[in-house]
Amino acid sequence: MTQSNDTLRQQFPILNTTVYGHPLVYLDNAATTQKPQSVIDALCQYYTQLNSNIHRGTHYLASKATEQYEAVRERVRRFIGARSTHEIIFTRGTTESINLVASSFGRYRLREGDEIVVSAMEHHSNIVPWQLACEQAGATLRVIPFSEEGVLDLGALPALLNEHTRLVAVGHVSNTLGTINPVAEITAMAHCHGIPVLVDGAQAVAHMAVDVQEIGCDFYCFSGHKMYGPMGVGVLYGREELLEQMPPYQGGGEMIKDVTFERTTYNDLPFRFEAGTPSVGDVLALGAALDFMEQTGLDTLAQHEEHLLHYAIERLQHIDGLRIIGQAPHKTSVISFLLGNAHPYDVGTLLDKLGIAVRTGHHCTQPIMDHYGIPGTVRASFAIYNTIAEVDALVDALQRIAPMLA
Ligand code: PLP
Repeated sequence: MTQSNDTLRQQFPILNTTVYGHPLVYLDNAATTQKPQSVIDALCQYYTQLNSNIHRGTHYLASKATEQYEAVRERVRRFIGARSTHEIIFTRGTTESINLVASSFGRYRLREGDEIVVSAMEHHSNIVPWQLACEQAGATLRVIPFSEEGVLDLGALPALLNEHTRLVAVGHVSNTLGTINPVAEITAMAHCHGIPVLVDGAQAVAHMAVDVQEIGCDFYCFSGHKMYGPMGVGVLYGREELLEQMPPYQGGGEMIKDVTFERTTYNDLPFRFEAGTPSVGDVLALGAALDFMEQTGLDTLAQHEEHLLHYAIERLQHIDGLRIIGQAPHKTSVISFLLGNAHPYDVGTLLDKLGIAVRTGHHCTQPIMDHYGIPGTVRASFAIYNTIAEVDALVDALQRIAPMLA
């Protein structure tokens, strides 16, 4: 990274935390990233200077808050290359975005005997909503397998696409394996059969430039808190033609045009899918997160994380008994591993005592664990503020605890 690492890290107050007498080494970024001061300030400013309910008020605060909320919608549109702000719906996060589509698209499109295709490396948030929709309609879930390396078997996809397939739902990046999936290629294959595609971008948007028109997908979902923004806000991008046809997800608040006891008519896009009071402060803080990412530079972000990834893999490989799970040639800065026969939870607990925060367990991807026949992994995941010295700290700590767990 060219910008001084110290200058960048100083923007993240939490990185000064001490854990059990050690400086915090935060390597749990795939679960949630830390927030720069500008994001924290945006939240604070909203509640100290602007707090007001949007869209419905004529007074000063309501119009200012509405103006800023809608300005972030436009920022998000540009950030992911959508055609129109009608295609940007604010949700609580990726999970809610996927549930919105599964519920609404499911009701509109899914019938008995239909099929939905997901991959075997999906997060539970991109499996369970489809199972629920399938159960309700009498439809079936079909699954794209992946290889030992952690690469999707695209050769298996054509056989899974047929006249019963209603949608393909696939992750852009695996939160457990780090694999970057060829979502444009998958979309093109599905579109040949007229099948729409939803991409779960929760692990992609903070690590690479995303252009939904280049991918060609019909839906794209992500969470603010995994991209330096606050918890409680996420985005659903949906192609306008499809959203126009879908019934509302939830009723009430801003999603209506007129209500009588006989009949309700619904609002235009995107408001039709934003029932109730949204998390306005979080949306404004998401705008500040986008500013942070754009000022840092998406290329800088990607290059820095790639540098950390390669350095970490190189060093980890030399630890006796350490096995990396997921070795796809195209991957983001997520490293899942096992240390000898030690339980991942024990490794995580001992690392924590040395100030190193990693995630352990199945990472909400139990089918991946079943694939490898393991209970879970230890997962280290990097962000822009991580350093080579922190990778060294992880490696040194693992070398120190390995004999204790042998
Ligand atoms: N999809 C992927 C790939 C994820 O990694 C996650 C969270 O870890 C989710 C979906 C769910 O995101 P959220 O909990 O923000 O809704």
